[in-house]
Amino acid sequence: MPWLGYGVFKIPDDHHVEHAVQAALEIGYRGIDTATVYGNERGVGKAIRESGVPREHIFLSTKVWTDDMRKNRVPEAFEESLERLQTDYVDLYMIHWPVKGCYIETWQVMEAIYLSGCAKAIGVSNCLVHHLETVLHNSEIVPMVNQVEFHPLLVQPELLKFCQSQGIQMQAASPLMRGHILTEVTVQKMAEKYYKTPAQIVLRWDLQHEVAAIPKSVHVDRIVENIKIFDFEISEEDMKILDALDEGKRIGSHPDHFTY
Ligand code: NDP
Repeated sequence: MPWLGYGVFKIPDDHHVEHAVQAALEIGYRGIDTATVYGNERGVGKAIRESGVPREHIFLSTKVWTDDMRKNRVPEAFEESLERLQTDYVDLYMIHWPVKGCYIETWQVMEAIYLSGCAKAIGVSNCLVHHLETVLHNSEIVPMVNQVEFHPLLVQPELLKFCQSQGIQMQAASPLMRGHILTEVTVQKMAEKYYKTPAQIVLRWDLQHEVAAIPKSVHVDRIVENIKIFDFEISEEDMKILDALDEGKRIGSHPDHFTY
């Protein structure tokens, strides 16, 4: 899985998502993260097919939505995602939210999908330590990825430590806190110090925590900016300053209290 991928949440399923994904692939992104509920799998699939980039060079991930989990139709939902994405496999299939009373059964279906070879990896999203522990106690296959909201205002060091101890790769959803983290004075000062932008500081901070990230932007200049994080290093001292911004503050729902 690429350390830096491209997320497409809230990009409409028309020429918008097609242009955005094509731009990202042209710029050099090789990871694309979508989900059934984003409603844009068709456009993502079209963009990938028309990009000229060989499918096997792209790490494509999507997620099963909560309604399909509750209706016990995960295999069907997976087939529908493949059909919309116009591909015969995904690189990563994830449980989007750990629906109470459902996610263990869903994980067992995910295991079967993985064993079929149609998902090269399976993972979860929005899982806290207690969700992961429940999955681990009731399954054969350890989730390969946990995609969770992660940025300097929501560091979750215990979750990160737990994932690392179990070999579960963390991936940062909303790594820029939907733009809000970029106005933090500490982040802005750090950007000045390193001659980088606030977004580059935050995405590099992910990387140095060994957390993969999937920032979203519909602007080509920002898509270019966000991938330029491999040519500098934040000092240990400055990493600690960024870590200290942690307030446990979320822009998205809490994994124990979501209403979807
Ligand atoms: P991000 O944290 O990636 O922030 C996106 C926002 O930041 C947009 O408003 C974008 O504006 C702006 N932005 C992006 N780059 C820059 C930049 N360099 N400078 C200034 N502003 C910038 O938000 P998302 O919530 O979209 O998260 C990213 C991805 O994570 C999603 O697309 C999705 O794939 C995944 N995700 C997964 C979730 C889950 O439940 N599993 C939940 C949320 C997200 P503009 O587009 O106008 O440039």
